[in-house]
Amino acid sequence: MDLEHMYVPFPTGNKLKCTCGFQIELSGIRNDIEVQAGRKIID
Ligand SMILES: [Zn+2]
Repeated sequence: MDLEHMYVPFPTGNKLKCTCGFQIELSGIRNDIEVQAGRKIID
């Protein structure tokens, strides 16, 4: 997989998929991001 993924947002579900096929499940890291940001992020 490439180092700089070009993510394609999935309208359904908390998932991002790269053009190379690499997929990230956002439901887990989303909480981490919100904690680090100290606030909620947009849905
Ligand atoms: Zn990629």
